[in-house]
This record gives sequence, structure tokens and C-alpha cells, in this order.
Amino acid sequence: MRVAQLFGNQIELRDIDKVSLEGRKGAIVKVLGCGLCGSDIVKFRHGLAEDGTVLGHEIVAIIEDINSSTEFKKGDRVVCSHHIPCFECHYCKGGSYSMCQHFKKTNIIPGGFSEYVYLSEEHLQNVAHKVPDVMTDEEISFYEPLGCCIRAVERANLKKGDNVLVIGLGSIGLLMGQALKAYGMNVYGCDLMQDRIDLAISRGIIGFNSLDVEKSHDFIYNNTNKIGADCIFMTSGADAAIPLALKTVRNGGKILVFSSTPKDFGYANNEVYYRELTIMGSYSPRPQDLAKSFELLTTRQVNVEHLSTDYELNDIVKAFDDTITNKILKAYIKIGE
Ligand SMILES: [Zn+2]
Ligand SMILES: [Zn+2]
Repeated sequence: MRVAQLFGNQIELRDIDKVSLEGRKGAIVKVLGCGLCGSDIVKFRHGLAEDGTVLGHEIVAIIEDINSSTEFKKGDRVVCSHHIPCFECHYCKGGSYSMCQHFKKTNIIPGGFSEYVYLSEEHLQNVAHKVPDVMTDEEISFYEPLGCCIRAVERANLKKGDNVLVIGLGSIGLLMGQALKAYGMNVYGCDLMQDRIDLAISRGIIGFNSLDVEKSHDFIYNNTNKIGADCIFMTSGADAAIPLALKTVRNGGKILVFSSTPKDFGYANNEVYYRELTIMGSYSPRPQDLAKSFELLTTRQVNVEHLSTDYELNDIVKAFDDTITNKILKAYIKIGE
């Protein structure tokens, strides 16, 4: 079967032995397509994955062979995520599911950018859903990334009507903004690129250009009775987003960190102290966040139209390049039919 493998920071298309059940429980699925995630980009750019790694985890697929106690059957079109918490360790019991060792270890085999994938029984039980006919492959491929956003929204633990600002309106920012709206927040969003701001506005987010930090501060303050935003969602990977977040968050407010930044800056200690700020991270979703994501997508409370661009598996290198150079918001790799 054809796969895209990572060697250092080079991607190569190769043929490897097809995955099979070999008496195991679980399913062999034929991959229809797989979204290209920001985390794949980071691994690619910095050569962070072991040689031969098959990246990709946002798959939509058809079950080809199955041995399972679940209700899934051959021919079902499914969407599936990659990590599953054990629910029993110290991390899981403390609510830090994505820090669980089992969570980090579990994965789809060999990875999403492959013609076929093995899903374990645990995947079928916890993080897979049958896709309704009305949803296209590409639409439902946002299941895992939106799940990550839901996890962040849940972690922020906000009240309905709170003022929130999403910094960075890439595909994740646009998903985050819509998830926050679905939870009843008053959502602002900013970016430097007008087409992204327009996409946000078309989804009911109050979008603005944040090139000028002072003006951005004034805009948020004037719209929140001179208080500032209750919570900032950091989906931008730019270092400059950090001072902007500190400028626009209200005293006592929260900053939800949702991306890595090149310089690995810290948040100013004295601002955190005197202003009683809460800085928190959110990384990867629990099964219940994924279930909520599935619900928001299939009820079309989150609109993913125009958020992704199609590429063939043969053009996967171009898909990475176009994403890195901001030519597109997000790539969806079409693999099978
Ligand atoms: Zn992802
Ligand atoms: Zn655990």
C-alpha cells in the first residue's frame, strides 16, 4: 500500500506491506482522505519524528475488514481520531487525559497518509463514529481538529455571554471561534490577513485586523465596558501574539495557550501576579470532546466550508509547502475513493 513517510524533513511516497487484521480485534479501513494538521507541519519542519513515520491522523475511511464487538460493519464510512486515554491512571483521574501514557502511546497504524489503516478495537469503541451520508469526507475530516478546540473551550470553563478573543484566524482559529459561539460566548477574532478576517465575519465572529496592538486593545476595551476580554484563545503561532494577549485580556482573566511559538517566550511574571491572570494550555481532546465535535459538525453548527483545499496523495509535499507559506488555510489529502 502507498504511504507518505517522513525522513528527517523530507517526505517520500513509498509502497509498504498492507496492514491486515491477523486475528486481532479492530478494523482495516480504506482511507478516503486525511486532513493535514498543524502538528504534522511542526514535525515535518523540524524533523521531529522518527524516520519512516507516516504522519496524519484526521482520517475519514471505509471499513474493509472488521473483527469487533462494536456495531460497526464492513462498508461503513467512519471518522476516527488517534489517541485514547486509559481513564484509570493518575493523569486521567486528575482530568489530564492527554498527558496519560496510554493516550500518548495509542495511534492509528501506520498513520493517516496511507491507503489503508489499522484501527484497534479501542479506537472503534472510543473515538470512531459512523458518518451520515449528507456529510462529505472533507467536512467530517474536521472532527479531530474541532475536537481539540472543544477541549480548549471546556478547559477554559467560561460563562455564557463571556467576551472571548481568538488570536489567529487560521483553520483552527475559525473552528475555535465557531465552537465558542456554539457554547454561547461573545466572540471576537483577529488576524493580519483580510481574507481570514472576512471568513470569520461570515461565521458571526466579530473580526478585526490586529496589526496595531494599541488599536486592538482600544477596540476590545471599548466593546467590553473598558474591562477587556474574559479569555483569550491563542491559536496563532506568532511570538507577537503574546503581548497582544496580555494587552487585551481583562484583569483576572484567562489566556488559553493553543499553539507553540518559535521563540518559546514566557508570559510576564508580574502581569500574571498583579493582574491575577490564569495562563493555561490545552492540547488534545478526550473522547467526549470528540463526540461533541461530531455533533457540532453533523448538525452544521460549525461551518467548515472554504476552510480546506484538496490535494492528491502524490502532491502531499506541495500541500505541506502551501500550508507553511499561508497559501491555503488547511490541506485535505484525498487518498482513496
Ligand atoms: Zn490534528
Ligand atoms: Zn490514563
